[in-house]
Amino acid sequence: MRVPYSDLYAEYHSMKQDIDCAIQKVIESTAFSGGPYVDAFEQEFAAHCDCETAIGVGSGTEALWLTLLAKDIGPGDEVITVANTFVATVEAILMTGAKPVLVDVDERTYNIRPDLIAGAVTSRTKAVIPVHLYGQMADMDAVCEVAYSYGLAVIEDACQAHGAEWRGRRAGSFGNAACFSFYPGKNLGAYGEAGAITTNDMELADKIRQLRSHGQSRRYIHAIKGWNARMDGIQAAILSIKLKRLDIRNAARARNAAFYNDAFNQLKGVITPIQAKHAMHVYHVYCLRTTGRDYALSALKETGIECAIHYPVPIHMQDAYRDLGYSEGDFPTAEICASQALSLPAHPDLTPEQMMYVTEQFTRVHGISERRNVSINSHLPTVK
Ligand SMILES: *Cc1c(COP(=O)(O)O)cnc(C)c1O
Repeated sequence: MRVPYSDLYAEYHSMKQDIDCAIQKVIESTAFSGGPYVDAFEQEFAAHCDCETAIGVGSGTEALWLTLLAKDIGPGDEVITVANTFVATVEAILMTGAKPVLVDVDERTYNIRPDLIAGAVTSRTKAVIPVHLYGQMADMDAVCEVAYSYGLAVIEDACQAHGAEWRGRRAGSFGNAACFSFYPGKNLGAYGEAGAITTNDMELADKIRQLRSHGQSRRYIHAIKGWNARMDGIQAAILSIKLKRLDIRNAARARNAAFYNDAFNQLKGVITPIQAKHAMHVYHVYCLRTTGRDYALSALKETGIECAIHYPVPIHMQDAYRDLGYSEGDFPTAEICASQALSLPAHPDLTPEQMMYVTEQFTRVHGISERRNVSINSHLPTVK
């Protein structure tokens, strides 16, 4: 049996007619860049996020970058985020000329530790970017409380958390603004690159709308310096179709995660993902931890099961970001995640047979790894 980590082809086939029709309509109307399909999707997405407005852009990375620019963040400023994230969070900060200041993540949720934020604040700090990693929101009560007490902006990196909730409120509706990615593999994915910002701050939204279209206040009238970061009409039309199915598909991810949790909770040396008290997790990634990670990854590959690692090297240990001045040991939890994290396929298009197969094979492989103690990570702290 083959179990791909994600199956975009199966997803397309489950909604082929609607998607084909939506693409055709955009072509017929030649609304290729921006336009009515982007406007419609923005409204639908804002409503889905319990937000006033949404601004479609070219990618999640652009969403982060433009939001920081719109908050007037630039050279000389600092922005606090986590060591355990996808690189784009840090890239966006650096693109403004500001300096990323990293903090460690929580050992249970893998999200930002709010208790470390105050210690990272300086007179130059302008914003905090909590990343809702793997589809679970950061502790937004605590993050907002500490950030606002220092007068900092809060920008959610919700690129992995479409539809996730904190105390019954959706990702994207906390903080000053939130950034989403519609990279094809995300819970809500385009058929190419796309992203969006959600916010309740209409002034901020106006500024981001100008920034994404060459800083124009009117056509060819450039009020501020901008860029071309518009969303494609075809992507918007596809996203409108897929947004209608997002909640159902997120629920399927959560069911798959619960199935794995039941099967793996009792395995010694495995830490299954935890849903924090006020969180509704949408399992963009089903990430467990095991000291036998490297063995499991390769043994599962041999059985036809494709897994992933999110992420193998934390930001502060990447060659590209040595100049941030951190070193190994600075963020112990992020480093443990890097050596123990294993993401199993949990996408909504998995069949019950595939789920069973992954469960059996992971249990078998983990058993071998425990018995032989083959883990090359055995020098690391044990996980249970
Ligand atoms: C995917 C992702 C991004 C970047 O989104 P793109 O659309 O690929 O530019 C940023 N942050 C996180 C946490 C992500 O997972």
